Amino acid sequence: MEEAKNVKSSATEKSVITHFCASCGRDISVIGDSVIFKCPNCGDEIVRCGKCRIKGTEFQCHACGFVGP
Ligand SMILES: [Zn+2]
Ligand SMILES: [Zn+2]
Repeated sequence: MEEAKNVKSSATEKSVITHFCASCGRDISVIGDSVIFKCPNCGDEIVRCGKCRIKGTEFQCHACGFVGP
């Protein structure tokens, strides 16, 4: 009997989820004080790095286009 190997390795692989700042596009794992919060408009996740938080840089929701401070 042949052993069927149909398991998708990508689904079982442990991959680190990388989040990128919605304002500057940097990987937030290398920047401290980064936050992930819900878009006040659509509730989707918005990622913001600590640097952009301090500077008050505008962010834009990738899902609905909401722009906010
Ligand atoms: Zn940023
Ligand atoms: Zn949104």
